[in-house]
Amino acid sequence: MKLSDNVAFLKGIGPESAKKLASLKIFNLEDLFNYWPRKYEDYSTVLNIKDVRPGNITVRAKIESVVGRYSRRGLHITEATATDKTGSLHLTWFNQPYRAAGLKADVEYYISGTFDQSGQSLSLVNPSIQLATDLSAGGRILAVYPETKLVKSALIRKAVAAAQTATKLIPEVLPSWLVKEAKLLPHGQAISTLHAPDSPEELEAAKKRLSFEELFELQLGSQLSKAELATEKASNIIFDEATAVEFTKHLDFKLTDDQRKTIWQVYKDMSSDLPTNRLIEGDVGSGKTVVAAMAAVMVMNSGHQVMYMAPTEILARQQAETLVQLFAHTKWKDQIGLLVGSLKPTQKKTLHKRIADGSCRLVVGTHALIQDAVATDNVALVIIDEQHRFGVDQRQRLRSKAGLFPHVLCMTATPIPRSLALTLYGELDLSIIKDKPPGRKMTETKIIPFSARSALYQDVDIEISRGRQVFVVCPLISESEVLQVKAAETLLTELQTKLLKKRRIGIVHGSMKAVDKEEVMKNFSEGKLDLLVATTVIEVGVNVPNATVMVIEGAERFGLAQIHQLRGRVGRAEHQSYCYLVPSQDIGMTKRLRAVESTNDGFRLAELDLELRGPGAIYGSRQSGELDLRIASLNDRAQVAEAKKYAEMFMSRGENLLKYPQLNRRVAHFRSLQKLN
Ligand code: ADP
Ligand code: MG
Repeated sequence: MKLSDNVAFLKGIGPESAKKLASLKIFNLEDLFNYWPRKYEDYSTVLNIKDVRPGNITVRAKIESVVGRYSRRGLHITEATATDKTGSLHLTWFNQPYRAAGLKADVEYYISGTFDQSGQSLSLVNPSIQLATDLSAGGRILAVYPETKLVKSALIRKAVAAAQTATKLIPEVLPSWLVKEAKLLPHGQAISTLHAPDSPEELEAAKKRLSFEELFELQLGSQLSKAELATEKASNIIFDEATAVEFTKHLDFKLTDDQRKTIWQVYKDMSSDLPTNRLIEGDVGSGKTVVAAMAAVMVMNSGHQVMYMAPTEILARQQAETLVQLFAHTKWKDQIGLLVGSLKPTQKKTLHKRIADGSCRLVVGTHALIQDAVATDNVALVIIDEQHRFGVDQRQRLRSKAGLFPHVLCMTATPIPRSLALTLYGELDLSIIKDKPPGRKMTETKIIPFSARSALYQDVDIEISRGRQVFVVCPLISESEVLQVKAAETLLTELQTKLLKKRRIGIVHGSMKAVDKEEVMKNFSEGKLDLLVATTVIEVGVNVPNATVMVIEGAERFGLAQIHQLRGRVGRAEHQSYCYLVPSQDIGMTKRLRAVESTNDGFRLAELDLELRGPGAIYGSRQSGELDLRIASLNDRAQVAEAKKYAEMFMSRGENLLKYPQLNRRVAHFRSLQKLN
């Protein structure tokens, strides 16, 4: 056997099954081993029925007297009796009417579930069940794979069992010194165990090895970026105190301590010729723009140009307006340009010329435009809003003729806890703006039970009568964009035909064309719409100061940090603002929702989310691609630290990544995720 062998040649897998597997992109043995289980069913400890105690148990027994019926309340119930040599056990399945048909008499099954003493009767409720003969091949801890209509786990297990001896051929992916020093299981053995573990301990060890590998790849990516950057030079931006003082003199507020610290840090970074690579995290409304402006002013003062990139055209516009105001008292007030797609060709041409000849010093635009369209030799600072990173090859394009790299500041309102940020962005320096400008009105947050929904929309109606505007975010149905759009449209219809008949309502969602989206957002921000139904596309940075109400439907489905981001869309002016969390029908106040209700501190919420739901919750689906971890947990701080240590060791030993093709590919994959899209 070879790893490149087609699965069709496996014993028991014919062309028919191979075709099914091909639908999962499993063609050869390597693909097969690379298709990982989603979870496991543990049949490893089998009890005699007479020894059964409350808790999770597995028995090996025959099943008799299966009956299905409907309860008075319409619930389907399947009941059966399981019998082994030592006794009988009552089994119950709720709402699984297909159960009865699937069970055969006189064959043995492994039956596994939680045994519970409910009332007087002893019953195993909704147990999972496997033919005993199915289990004999692959050990007693059963891998459960991501399934499709066509391909069930049993088929994959069968293929894996038939290919088992080929796991010996799976090559090691990490350097041998590392395997030895970090006392790792061999890669192939871990993969083999992952598919067919013999014991929970063995499985744990295999997972540990594979998750180390993943964290190591992630850390190595960061280390490589850092090392590459360290070989580059950037312009020294000389700190001129008078310029900074003059700039702050004209602000109509006092900088917060965190703003001050962050700016100071950035000045220090930029005064060295090592390219700055800093992430500024600051909650919505914490005042990152002025920090960016102060960084920009120093760079402009030293005769260089600055690029400010926003994720969308609307945001670029808004940001440009703000910057023009902030620079109104400076000699650079006429040197700010807005580069967006909707400019007329002549305007664009003039702007390009001004950028090229240096009379436009601060260019604001979207990521795409600035990267593709600008010819300039003098950019010393790139500021990127709502983005966590900027890849090395993207900087490369902005390199000056003299070979200098720009300094880079990334800014994000996603409150990523420091621990997590250090893991994900090991190559970045981090500044956190934690304190908020004083005197902010707190957005009032309330959980509204589903039953009070129509009353809520009456309140919303009153708020609209007062001239205010409203966001309504529709439930997060699944990762599926199609379902998401359907949910938004259903909500729109309900509002238009029932709840808010007289109001002007718009809709915006992810599958709309960018121009259409921007059009709707523009109408909303100009007050031509009273209410905007939206999916989470509005999460990032939209500023509509007149919007005072944020209704989040299906609120329990959102991450806390995500709700917090959405909440940040209101309360942006002097008006008292409100955020209403409407959980789905049947779902009451959860601990998580109560947390959002009780605090406005984004970082607290992010920490809590990390604890309760893991890192995916903080990222939401928008950035989940960035994590893309198959097995590792970023919560395992000890392992993260370990992985970092060995990644640094890899670098300091002067190892050549090209010697490890598979590792190289994985690292490249993680690094490619850093690019702007
Ligand atoms: P974000 O961090 O979300 O980008 P902004 O930079 O848009 O926040 O700032 C939000 C608002 O707070 C702006 O109107 C800005 O002028 C104001 N602001 C910023 N810093 C301060 C401060 N130190 N004191 C008072 N208001 C401030
Ligand atoms: Mg901002």
